Amino acid sequence: MPSQTCSYRGRFAPSPTGPLHKGSLVAAIASYLEAKKHNGQWLIRMEDVDELRNVKGAADDILSSLDAFGFEWDETVLYQTQRKPAYVEALQSLKHKQLIYPCTCSRKTLKARADSGEINTGELGYIYPGSCITNTFSNFQSDDHAIRIKVPDESFNFIDALLGHHAQNLKKDSGDFIIRRRDGLFAYQLAVVVDDAFQNISHVVRGADLLGSTPRQLYLQQCLNFVTPSYSHLPLILCNNGDKLSKQTGASGIGNKADIPLLVDCLKFLGQKPPEALAQESLSSVWQWAKDNWLLTTSIS
Ligand code: GLU
Ligand code: ZN
Repeated sequence: MPSQTCSYRGRFAPSPTGPLHKGSLVAAIASYLEAKKHNGQWLIRMEDVDELRNVKGAADDILSSLDAFGFEWDETVLYQTQRKPAYVEALQSLKHKQLIYPCTCSRKTLKARADSGEINTGELGYIYPGSCITNTFSNFQSDDHAIRIKVPDESFNFIDALLGHHAQNLKKDSGDFIIRRRDGLFAYQLAVVVDDAFQNISHVVRGADLLGSTPRQLYLQQCLNFVTPSYSHLPLILCNNGDKLSKQTGASGIGNKADIPLLVDCLKFLGQKPPEALAQESLSSVWQWAKDNWLLTTSIS
């Protein structure tokens, strides 16, 4: 293909809550190869927005694992902890549009109301009933309250490049959701939308555990006048008991030495058909084969 300016910009956005494990490696590989296939750029964003869950040293460990496995990223890594002014700006814009309000309900109270059946629960957990919707801000920046965004009784639809059509009615399926927490930290939903727009991400390739978050992100993009990227949600690696393989379910770190058989195994998981001998090849041969043969597919092995 002749070289041309390509607007594809993909990203890998790990949370530094522990080392990179096989589940996150799969998302890194798929987002990377998809970007390479489109002559695009591939960025890394360190999603350290939830400062209470960050593990000291994990961000550096993740970057050294990625480096050891031969990933090459564009631009400098963006850290969400450095992005607070941008999140405040987004809040201000939403406040200006009268889309947000302070919520003083405690998680405990909401949970108790959900447990007693007084408020509904759905796939995403309890559906916030809008108890605080008439609250007004006395001090916007104060953190004695969470901040929720009003959602419309409307279906948000998108076509996932891998999973097809997906729709959610935000009013019925989530209710007004939190974009800044009561402890003052910004919610993932807001940070991810602001940063995908800031980094001009055109294609998001990530795990299917985030499929249910996408309609809320589409809505925030609409409220903030951001362009919506294209989405592909990858099947998750499951543990024997059917739970998602994650740091919480005890996935072990991939270390900071390239494990070629593991890389080949992840390619197979992603539905690629590497020749048997590839696992004995060099790291650069594995990547060459992967780049030459990559096809984003749902026929996951
Ligand atoms: N930081 C999120 C995670 O590690 C991923 C967010 C995303 O890709 O949108 O699960
Ligand atoms: Zn409330």
